[in-house]
Amino acid sequence: MDYFSYKKGKLFAEGVDVARIAAEVGTPVYIYSKATFKEHLEKIRKAYGEIDTTICYSVKACGNINILRFMAEAGSGFDIVSGGELHRVLQAGGDPSKIVYAGVGKTDKEITEGLGADIAYFNIESEAELENLIRLAKQKNKKPRAALRVNPDVDPETHRYTTTGKKETKFGVDIKRARKVFSDYGNNRTVQLCAIHIHLGSAGHTVEPYAEALEKVLALIEQLRCDGFAIEAVDIGGGYGADYISGVSPTAADYASAIVPPLKGKNLKLILEPGASVAANAAILLTQVLYPKKGGDKKFIIVDAGMNDLIRPPLYDAFHFIWPSQVSDAFVTERRDRDLQLDGTEVVDVVGPICESGDFFAKDRALPPVKGGDLLSIFTAGAYGFSMSSNYNARGRAAEVLVDNKDFSVIRRRESYEDLIELEK
Ligand SMILES: *Cc1c(COP(=O)(O)O)cnc(C)c1O
Repeated sequence: MDYFSYKKGKLFAEGVDVARIAAEVGTPVYIYSKATFKEHLEKIRKAYGEIDTTICYSVKACGNINILRFMAEAGSGFDIVSGGELHRVLQAGGDPSKIVYAGVGKTDKEITEGLGADIAYFNIESEAELENLIRLAKQKNKKPRAALRVNPDVDPETHRYTTTGKKETKFGVDIKRARKVFSDYGNNRTVQLCAIHIHLGSAGHTVEPYAEALEKVLALIEQLRCDGFAIEAVDIGGGYGADYISGVSPTAADYASAIVPPLKGKNLKLILEPGASVAANAAILLTQVLYPKKGGDKKFIIVDAGMNDLIRPPLYDAFHFIWPSQVSDAFVTERRDRDLQLDGTEVVDVVGPICESGDFFAKDRALPPVKGGDLLSIFTAGAYGFSMSSNYNARGRAAEVLVDNKDFSVIRRRESYEDLIELEK
């Protein structure tokens, strides 16, 4: 579900023809749909309505302050991984009592900032970090709550760079060691260790890993309660599937059907940290075709966006559906799929202008014929798109535009040449 669809062969973001945005703002440009963000949030809220649930949108997926602002207004909490993200959320008016802070390498400065803001939970990844939180909290006379991030050792069957819940990753502590951590720190008077956190990794496509991990975590919580520790919350992280391909990922309701029943009557608050499942299909990256080019038997479509704008294809082997934003009737499609075959398409590589062979968006992809000047939409670009962008090759970052029904506004202007050298003066 999203609000990008063709009307008379032209791609619209909600009520706005994306070609109009390209004409006014230029390309490449990230185009976000506010209604898509809000609908995802609402669907999650509904799906988990039966139990006490806090949704903490994962800022690192897509953290433009204007997006965080309307998410905060819509009642979302936030999952942060740095002091910079804390700053963004607070500036956006986010409620600190709905902020959870994860990350294996929080600095003293960042921890102190989190303490100053009275965030809901520090998600603790090691004994050494917990010691440090205790030390800093004493200095500031604070009594923060903490969740222990445990590693449930389940495999979400995703790319190896997005797997975080297996035993041999750097994240969290082994579930077997969790009891020891509680016996050492569970009665600490400064830090209240009173919750368990897991995060399996990103882009899984089934609910089973969550069911399996939750079962392990609930067994742990029961043990800890028997040991005399008060556990008030379980944070099951993010990583829920997003619609990169139409209709493949479980919906929020599908996940909830596996997650809610085991939690009923357990007297546990649930925390969710969705990122991609909220943000991914809430944006397209709109780019202009510069040159078609032949190379041996291959045909390349060189576009004005590059891996500095969207690095997911080379970084994660990620699939993004790509389609022209204006097409004849024969090519109108609402289905986004890896091997969509329509008569008249040609097989091409869609590549950027950067001096790296990793600078590609799609390889051997069937596309309607395009020529220089045409616009291509790279779909499902909202999560880890702009937030992972860089200035590589001295390219200014793309503009970000937010569409709200029939209106659009630039929520981050395109970086200029001056911006590129400003901090070097
Ligand atoms: C990145 C991250 C998330 C969000 O993951 P998605 O795949 O975008 O849903 C949630 N929790 C933690 C701790 C993370 O690091």
